[in-house]
Amino acid sequence: MNDATQDEGLDADSASRPATAVVVGGGLAGITAALALADAGVRVTLLEGRPRLGGLAFSFQRDALTVDNGQHVYLRCCTAYRWFLGRVDGADLAPLQARLDVPVLDAGAKPGRRLGRIGRTALPVPLHLARSLATYPHLSLAERAKVGRAALALKRLDLADPALDTQSFGGWLAAHGQSERAIEALWDLVGVATLNAVAGDASLGLAAMVFKTGLLSAPGAADIGWARVPLGELHDRLARKALDSAGVRTEVRTRVTSISRPGPIHQDGSISPHENGRWRVQVPGETLDADAVVLAVPQREAHDLLPEGALDAPERLLDIGTVPILNIHVVYDRKVLSRPFFAALGSPVQWVFDRTEASGLKEGQYLALSQSVAQDEIDEPVSALRERYLPELERLLPRARDAAVQDFFVTRERTATFAPAPGVGRLRPGARTEAPGLYLAGAWTATGWPATMESAVRSGVSAADAALDALGRPRDHLVELFEEAA
Ligand SMILES: Cc1cc2nc3c(=O)[nH]c(=O)nc-3n(C[C@H](O)[C@H](O)[C@H](O)COP(=O)(O)OP(=O)(O)OC[C@H]3O[C@@H](n4cnc5c(N)ncnc54)[C@H](O)[C@@H]3O)c2cc1C
Repeated sequence: MNDATQDEGLDADSASRPATAVVVGGGLAGITAALALADAGVRVTLLEGRPRLGGLAFSFQRDALTVDNGQHVYLRCCTAYRWFLGRVDGADLAPLQARLDVPVLDAGAKPGRRLGRIGRTALPVPLHLARSLATYPHLSLAERAKVGRAALALKRLDLADPALDTQSFGGWLAAHGQSERAIEALWDLVGVATLNAVAGDASLGLAAMVFKTGLLSAPGAADIGWARVPLGELHDRLARKALDSAGVRTEVRTRVTSISRPGPIHQDGSISPHENGRWRVQVPGETLDADAVVLAVPQREAHDLLPEGALDAPERLLDIGTVPILNIHVVYDRKVLSRPFFAALGSPVQWVFDRTEASGLKEGQYLALSQSVAQDEIDEPVSALRERYLPELERLLPRARDAAVQDFFVTRERTATFAPAPGVGRLRPGARTEAPGLYLAGAWTATGWPATMESAVRSGVSAADAALDALGRPRDHLVELFEEAA
């Protein structure tokens, strides 16, 4: 048996040995919790079942191409993820746009009206979006005016009101005069990509959070950032380096099989005094004991690993649905797109990113199509997807018509995000459990954010904060963390 830090002597007076923690799960939530705990002087062991860190945001090799499992973007308002990038020394590798600029191509529009832009000026909120809305060609004048009025009504919603989570965003938009076209060409364009749900399936609470924070909190809040290197460079290699320098012991290919009290538990239910408050984590071939455990795994795995009594209603975790995201990868023999990315309307294509440089491709162009809400396509054969998407790309990008396709493949994430459905708020637990010393983290926990990198990092901070509080350790660095990035 090992202490989490390989310290000898479980019998030692707990005050005389350093506090120890085990973090289970090496996604962004777990990495963050491990760093935040280590930064406060806790001896941390991070255990990840897969051969790499990064969880749902990772890269793999396909011959000479380094491929991301899914295109990831973040916004300037994602202060926690921006702190994470800085903490792993990766901020320069995933820069933000100087100013929000999203080209929106409508495949169905007449020539000359095909390209619109969602952008912002430096004016104060909400005027920063006024010019963009006034010139957005994919909506009529009346629709644009109604969008403006709905945005102002959205801004007035109180995010702390739990009733918002019981309503659907689609219902609210319809009640505020939004046409089907306005929902498709504007609200869903943003909402599908950020929430992984169409408006009709999304909680008003989560949607209002995204639109208020992203578009209506500060002029630059929605400026978009994305990695110019493979995600694995940030979330695996650099994260690993930061963890090593913080003194965290990181073990990959190490799947946790159980979490329990180290016992013995006496007949009256009490635990030996020196064991009280400690936890035992089992992995194949090793047992680790620690003062605190952060369980930073997906909700289903958390449900299976949580000891009895740790949550009042653990079965609620199983009621949190999941939604898939599909990525379609196309390598052309020449350049067919001259922008870093665009969003599409009037086509099954949603968002298209140029991944050429990040992937290491030397000739031609590599495009990744990010397809959210992919329930209907996630299990379709590659051949069917190829038949559907290549002609669509030719419709959107005339230069693709003369180009040869050198590679076409797909990546499928069946449980990419939790479903942000109305009512999901009451299913998401906070960081603290009923079991002292055992904490939850993960994008799916109660951060107030949809399933994003931001939510994952925030959850890791919250779990570390709760653990440090219980351990009587300094927590000031966690408060400063968000301020630094802001
Ligand atoms: C295709 C795709 C596109 C996305 N696009 C975006 C985007 O553009 N912007 C954005 O912000 N977010 C995006 N997301 C969401 C984002 O990736 C996730 O919300 C975030 O990475 C989740 O991090 P996490 O640490 O909470 O969970 P996870 O990444 O799921 O990490 C949990 C980790 O726990 C490990 N684990 C599980 N069980 C055990 C066990 N028993 N023992 C040890 N380890 C275990 C898993 O292997 C995993 O590494 C996207 C997700 C996908 C899949």
